[in-house]
Amino acid sequence: MNFTVKTRDPKSRARTGTLRTRRGVIGTPVFMPVATQGAIKAMSQEDLDALGAKIILANSYHLYLRPGCDVIESLGGIGKFMGYEGAILTDSGGFQVWSLSGLRSLTDEGVTFTSHLDGSRHHLTPESVIGIQDRLGSDIRTALDECTSYPCSEAQAEASLARTMQWAERAAQEHRRRVESVDPAARALFFPILQGSVYPALLRRSAEHALGLDPDGICIGGISVGEPKELLWSTVEAATEHLPEGHARYLMGVGAPEDLWEAVARGVDMLDCVFPTRVGRNGTALVRGGRLNITNAAHRSDPSPLDAECKCFVCRRYSRAYLGHLIRSHELSAYRYISYHNVQYLMDIIADIRQAIEQGRFQEARRAFLDRLNAA
Ligand SMILES: [Zn+2]
Repeated sequence: MNFTVKTRDPKSRARTGTLRTRRGVIGTPVFMPVATQGAIKAMSQEDLDALGAKIILANSYHLYLRPGCDVIESLGGIGKFMGYEGAILTDSGGFQVWSLSGLRSLTDEGVTFTSHLDGSRHHLTPESVIGIQDRLGSDIRTALDECTSYPCSEAQAEASLARTMQWAERAAQEHRRRVESVDPAARALFFPILQGSVYPALLRRSAEHALGLDPDGICIGGISVGEPKELLWSTVEAATEHLPEGHARYLMGVGAPEDLWEAVARGVDMLDCVFPTRVGRNGTALVRGGRLNITNAAHRSDPSPLDAECKCFVCRRYSRAYLGHLIRSHELSAYRYISYHNVQYLMDIIADIRQAIEQGRFQEARRAFLDRLNAA
C-alpha cells in the first residue's frame, strides 16, 4: 500500500501517516498549495521549496486548454515544465467543467464544453481525462466526476452519483491499462472522487463503490459548494465513516485555517485551497488569532509584522505599514509577500496538527486554536 497510518488520535478520526508517491514520501495531514495554471499565483517554485511544499495541485482542465498536453509532454511533464521537483496531483477537470454552466453538456459518454479561452469545442471522456493527466505527467490522477449544486434533491444527487460511479470504473480501467507495464515504484497513483451531495446513504454507496476500484486514495468531492458549515462537516464525517484506514483521504477545495483542524478531526489527510493566495491578493493576511486587512487605516503607520509569531521572510523583514502601502499602490511585490505569508501560515498550522497528533494532544491543541480565533 502507498499509504500508512502512523499515529491515531484516540478521541477523533485524526491521524498522521505517510503517502508514498514516485516523487517522494509525504507526511500527512498535508496542505497542498494550488497551482491552477502551473504556478501558485504570485509565487515562485523557489518559494515552494522554501516553504517545504512537497506536493501541490494543478488543474488538468486549464493546462489541457493552455499550453496544451503536446507542449507539456514534449518538455518532460508538468513538473519539469514548471521547474518543481515535488509531487503534483491533478484534478480531473470535473469541477471546472461543471462550473461552466451554460457552456457544457453532459451525457453518460462524457462531457462536451466550450473553452472559456477561445470558444473552441472539446469533448472529454473518463478515459481521455486519464490520458490527459498521463500526458501532463502528474503523480496523482483523479477520475472525471459529475458535481452537484447545493441545494440538490436526493434524486438528482443519486443520478449524478450513478454517472460518477460509471465514469470512475472507466477511469480506473484506463489508469490500470496505462500503468500496468510501469515499474511499481514509478507508477502514478489513482484517486476516484466520492459524490452524493449531503446524503449519507449516497456517500456510503459512493465510498463502497470507490473502494472496489482498487484505488490508491480517495477524494471527497462535491463539497464546499455553498452548503452551511455544519452540513459540510457532517457530510465529511459521513464520507470518512465508510472508508477503511489504509487509503489517503483528500478533501477537495477546503482550506481556511480553522477548516484544517475540523477536517483532520474527521479523518481527512490531504487538503487544498486557493483561499490563502486569493485573499492575500486582496490584502488580507491570515494571522494567528484571525485575519488582518492590511489596507485598514489602523495599520497605516504600524511598524509591526503581519504576525509576530511567524518566522517567514516577509514577517522578519516588512511592516504592516509597508505592506499596506504596497497593496494600496498596486505594487506587484505585495501580492507575493502576502500570499507567501498566508501559505506559510497554513503550512505551519498543518505542521502543528501533525505534531499535536503525534504527541497525543490533538484535542487540546484544536481547542486552543479555536479559542484563540474566537477570542479575537
Ligand atoms: Zn509571515
